[in-house]
Amino acid sequence: MVMTTPRTSSFWRNVRELTGILAISAASWFLAEHLSVFERLSEEARKFRWLGEAMVVGVVLTVCLVILSVSRWRGLSIEISNGLKLQDRLIQTAYHDSLTQLPNRIFFMSQLTQCVKRAKQRQDYEFAVVFMEVDHLKIVSDNLGQLLGDQIIMQISERLIGSIRRDAPTLHLTDVSGPVRKAGNDVLARYSGDEFAILLDDIRDPSDGIRVAERIQRNLLPLFLVDEREMQITVSIGIAVSASGYSAAEDVLRDASAAMRRARTRDESRYQMFDPTMHAAAVNRLKLEYDLRQAEDRGELLVYYQPIVSLHDGLLSGFEALIRWQRPGFGLVAPGQFIPLAEETGLIVPIGSWMLREACNQMHVWHLRFPSKPELTIAVNFSAKQFMQPNLVNQVDQILRETHMDPGSLNVEFTESVAMQDAEQTALRLNELKALGVHSSIDDFGTGYSSLSYLSRLSLDILKLDRYFVSAMESSNETRKIARAIISLAHNLGMDVVAEGIETVEQANEVRSLGCKYAQGYFFSKPMSQARVEALLGSGVRGADFKSHMKAKFMQDS
Ligand code: C2E
Ligand code: MG
Ligand code: MG
Repeated sequence: MVMTTPRTSSFWRNVRELTGILAISAASWFLAEHLSVFERLSEEARKFRWLGEAMVVGVVLTVCLVILSVSRWRGLSIEISNGLKLQDRLIQTAYHDSLTQLPNRIFFMSQLTQCVKRAKQRQDYEFAVVFMEVDHLKIVSDNLGQLLGDQIIMQISERLIGSIRRDAPTLHLTDVSGPVRKAGNDVLARYSGDEFAILLDDIRDPSDGIRVAERIQRNLLPLFLVDEREMQITVSIGIAVSASGYSAAEDVLRDASAAMRRARTRDESRYQMFDPTMHAAAVNRLKLEYDLRQAEDRGELLVYYQPIVSLHDGLLSGFEALIRWQRPGFGLVAPGQFIPLAEETGLIVPIGSWMLREACNQMHVWHLRFPSKPELTIAVNFSAKQFMQPNLVNQVDQILRETHMDPGSLNVEFTESVAMQDAEQTALRLNELKALGVHSSIDDFGTGYSSLSYLSRLSLDILKLDRYFVSAMESSNETRKIARAIISLAHNLGMDVVAEGIETVEQANEVRSLGCKYAQGYFFSKPMSQARVEALLGSGVRGADFKSHMKAKFMQDS
């Protein structure tokens, strides 16, 4: 489109000019033929009339051409200046982020490439990349809306500009092949949605990167005011310096973002200088992701089942399904080592629906093989990405139908932070799940953040008290009081409570005395394989072994 418009307009301009020339020639011929001025010319001149006419036509044509050239030249100069403006605008769009007007990823990488080259040529030259991600921006945007999310980004970018050297960043748009930058400037860029990057040019010492990181965190400390709300915004920062001897800009970025990921896991001083051990960690992470992508097809994923016990009669009430990965060369891998990566990469969606299908299918088979009243339940964990899938409820419905599983025996578990990511959606989704007949539990309660008034509006059936309370209440009376308050809150809201992480008979007695109806933990049983569950269920009414173990250790104490 950009190409056809100028071509079309120059065609019409040529046609207009040609028509003009013809009209002027015709007019001059007419003048030469009919005006009396020529009649009054001398007899001699009449002999050479054709010469006079030719001269008049020539003069007129020359004047026309001069007029046309002048007007064309003016048009051309306007076009050139318009063209330059357009070029500037194109460069501006191509190299800048439209929201913050900061340089974007493309510009940043082009500058970083120049710095990498310079560092290879000059021994005395060093640079650093400070890479940062805004913590929980997605959660904030999802809750407050995209517009307010954009306002936060704008405010952050202003504070970041105040954290770098005064004369940065500058773009000179004189070079058609790309922008050039004055040497000695830092570049602050919006790298992607919630990521910013700073290129520190010509630093004196690698610790300059740390100084900038600390300055950024100081500048972000004052509360942000967004839509009349005050909020605390933090960033996680990774730093990579040229001393590591880079040969490509992408490698610097890879290391700075690996350092940033490490910083993210820290509670305080959330910045981290890259060190080579992180490179090994990044390579391992890539390998883990590659292997995890194949795991389901290769049949390496397994479901383990941890019993959930009624504290009232010591009988088995159901299981929690917990994923395991039989990874070749690594043994049985626990979910903590791969679920976060699966969540980050989106692999959790297919893995999660595999898990749900397996667990439902297995429980239906056990219902048929080991009938009991009431039926045993199965709890399945849902992480944030899974829970936020738009078609989640249809998917659950379809899996229940395919596996012929009774919806009332399924318990969907998710944490407080998942529930709070999108409060409205969570409420809607839980109502839809309830309409299917499925139960829902809030997992690890007390470790995340949630609003109690909001919690009361969710259709929840079970609250799972995090094992932190169970282990800490023995030594802390305060914790015991909090646990008691949580249990009573849950009962007032019509929920049952499952105490997690029961490891001793004292803990089992303690949570029972606080009013907990159900419990799970190593005291009763560790998560077990399908074969072990079948042996347990086959041994008698709701696991006779289990009950005798309970009798010996727990029931007699009460
Ligand atoms: P969770 O849902 O809170 O599961 C309970 C975790 O506590 C399990 O760890 C279980 O083995 C452990 N546990 C149970 N009793 C005790 C005890 O007495 N002492 C101690 N120290 N630990 C106990 P696991 O199997 O490693 O799972 C960890 C987390 O991984 C789960 O926490 C859950 O959040 C997640 N997870 C497990 N399976 C899945 C899954 O299929 N999908 C998703 N999205 N997440 C899963
Ligand atoms: Mg759970
Ligand atoms: Mg839990």
